[in-house]
Amino acid sequence: LEEFVDPPKVEDKIGVVPNGLSTDSDVSKREAEWISKRSLRSNAENNKDIFLRELISNASDAPDKIRFLSLTDKEILGEGDNTELGIQIKLDKDKKVVSIRDRGLGMTKEDLIKNLGTIAKSGTSAFVEKMQTGGDLNLIGQFGVGFYSVYLVADYVEVISKHNDDKQYVWESKADGAFAISEDVWNEPLGRGTEIRLHLREEAGEYLEESKLKELVKKYSEFINFPISIWASKE
Ligand code: ADP
Ligand code: MG
Repeated sequence: LEEFVDPPKVEDKIGVVPNGLSTDSDVSKREAEWISKRSLRSNAENNKDIFLRELISNASDAPDKIRFLSLTDKEILGEGDNTELGIQIKLDKDKKVVSIRDRGLGMTKEDLIKNLGTIAKSGTSAFVEKMQTGGDLNLIGQFGVGFYSVYLVADYVEVISKHNDDKQYVWESKADGAFAISEDVWNEPLGRGTEIRLHLREEAGEYLEESKLKELVKKYSEFINFPISIWASKE
């Protein structure tokens, strides 16, 4: 987020007039600017939480899709762990990473480009900048850019995904308008589904606290059909 905007200093405000009345016509303007920036900022701050709502919603859409497809194609669900459609959230305090994984449909390489790549190409950074300076958070709902709310709390995001029809891939982006996709030769095989890893911004450390996460998951899981478990790395 933007550096904190200091209020006009008292000395500035009253100038040389000792009784506290300002002679500077710019002062009230500056003060008004400061107040509006402060409220926008705190608005953005309070709403950062919604990244989790967006991720939980995506992590629930994906198993919904596979479950729906399995009604006509029994093979699609696979066996063993792949049939367990619960959502897992992991907190890695050392690496400052929050990750969320599902065993939904997953994304092929093409899906990753098409679904996560489009906005990255056409101005993610503008969107993120807007969000960071307290822009209208309704943008997230309106333009279906739910996924991009991750950049409210993360400065680097990895999306690892495995779809039945393709190999496992990693999509990564720092929200600087560029993303990279490569075949995943580093991580454990997912079987099927998606894991999203948020490398948290310095100021977003609160999301590594179990109590904070639990509170948010409770809040955002009301209409979610799959169990959500939270795991924390031992300190
Ligand atoms: P929306 O959910 O409104 O379509 P999002 O920005 O939240 O928009 O997500 C964009 C797209 O990325 C989704 O439509 C979906 O195709 C894909 N996607 C995001 N998260 C996942 C996931 N966990 N599993 C599979 N696909 C996903
Ligand atoms: Mg979504």
